[in-house]
Amino acid sequence: MTVLGETAVADLRTGFAGSVLTPEDPAYADARVLFNSMITKRPSVIAQCAGGADVARAVAFGRELGLEIAVRGGGHGVAGTALTDGGIVIDLRRMNAVTVDPAKRTARIGGGATMSHLDRATQPFDLATTGGRVSTTGVGGFTLGGGSGWLERKFGLACDNLLAAEVVTADGNTVVCSEESHPELFWALHGGGGNFGVVTSLTLRLHPLPTAAVALLLWRPEAGPEVTRAYRDFMENAPEEVGGGIIYLTGPAEPFVPAHLVNSLACAMLITYAGELTRARQVLGPLLSLGHEGELIAEVPYAELQCMFDDPPGYRNYWSAEHLDELPDKAVDLFCARARDMVCPSPSQHVLFPYGGAVASGPSGYPVPWRRAPWVVHPLGLWTEPEDDDRGIRWARDLRADMKPWSTGAVYSNFIGQEGRERVVAGYGLENYRRLAKVKAAYDPDNVFHLNPNIRPEK
Ligand code: FAD
Repeated sequence: MTVLGETAVADLRTGFAGSVLTPEDPAYADARVLFNSMITKRPSVIAQCAGGADVARAVAFGRELGLEIAVRGGGHGVAGTALTDGGIVIDLRRMNAVTVDPAKRTARIGGGATMSHLDRATQPFDLATTGGRVSTTGVGGFTLGGGSGWLERKFGLACDNLLAAEVVTADGNTVVCSEESHPELFWALHGGGGNFGVVTSLTLRLHPLPTAAVALLLWRPEAGPEVTRAYRDFMENAPEEVGGGIIYLTGPAEPFVPAHLVNSLACAMLITYAGELTRARQVLGPLLSLGHEGELIAEVPYAELQCMFDDPPGYRNYWSAEHLDELPDKAVDLFCARARDMVCPSPSQHVLFPYGGAVASGPSGYPVPWRRAPWVVHPLGLWTEPEDDDRGIRWARDLRADMKPWSTGAVYSNFIGQEGRERVVAGYGLENYRRLAKVKAAYDPDNVFHLNPNIRPEK
């Protein structure tokens, strides 16, 4: 690890509004913890920025000293790119303010805010926008990668709702970008991730959403193929208000879970509805009458729905995904059969999400090549013991291999860890990648921001 001289650190601390932590600081150990406990990198310095001026100084400091620069938002990236070994972490978590303009239906969000900050600020106005499926994910990393969540079939991907962003670029300048200002950079932020600079604030479009409904229906795993087929057939013509997915999981010890599914593999159908429960019950009739063995059905404010399925931090994580252009019975059978290999009991999830709706009909030009896929299979592995690593990783890879015959080949980088160069390019699509490489050359020609699904600068 680069050991920084006291003078260098003192220089950075002078006039820095936030905190500068080095390994000697008591707060350092907690400050480098990520969601994925497999990532244990040790930066030389963590700059906990309080605003854009701190970010610009931290970027300049890193560059002057030749330190590798990592950018941290919510710390949810499963690949662990929010940390660096020996370099500097630009930690944005203090920059979490959210300002809602109810008349314009927009929210201005600090680059380090989480979904929880966003949803708690918009809920009092009965407004919402597409967020991640849990409350603890960073709005920044989520939106810049594309942003897929419960409301996407109604309101589009998070990036479809991005109206403007403020970015500290590699040369330390602050750029405000939108359709009118720095349009190429603005386009690149719709899926291009953290490649182009540190996004210190984002402005997102909001939508009216006074209430939401949720249904979690449970079956023993043997029922999975039949349930999944019924779900697939229903989703083909489902209204855009319906979100959710099929999720094999370990049945939690909750009152709505029958004893035989507690701590055992269960097949769950999770249904979210952007609207009232009474209307949801009418629309979801065919799914609610499939004969489930356990149920949780409720009308809740969207901000509450967002925290209902928060994954626990502190686990070892391995995730992957495969986007499918169809889901024939054979694919359903393979998907369901492979659930038996996941580490269970554990918080792991074996997931099938539908897209369609406003995801499919959204703008086609953004670098999110996966948006036209009707389905995504997403193994999310979480476990505690290193001896389960091989099993957990093999299960996720085997599931991907099973799905290959129906894969579109497109990749959503936010859903995967580090899977090699080919998958990075597939995360943008080759044509988009070439255009992104030019934007990268304009705003970060030295590839200062390379801890991400990296786009190499090319003129
Ligand atoms: P970090 O690890 O802090 O950041 C990841 C990378 O994003 C950084 O290395 C950096 O390159 C970039 N970055 C983050 N913030 C900024 C910024 N302000 N400026 C510039 N670059 C930045 N994704 C979905 O689409 N839908 C989901 O439903 C969903 N659910 C999830 C649930 C859990 C429990 C977890 C762990 C992840 C989930 N994700 C989901 C994936 C998530 O969107 C990505 O991991 C995303 O990158 C996380 O962003 P972050 O800011 O929390 O992560």
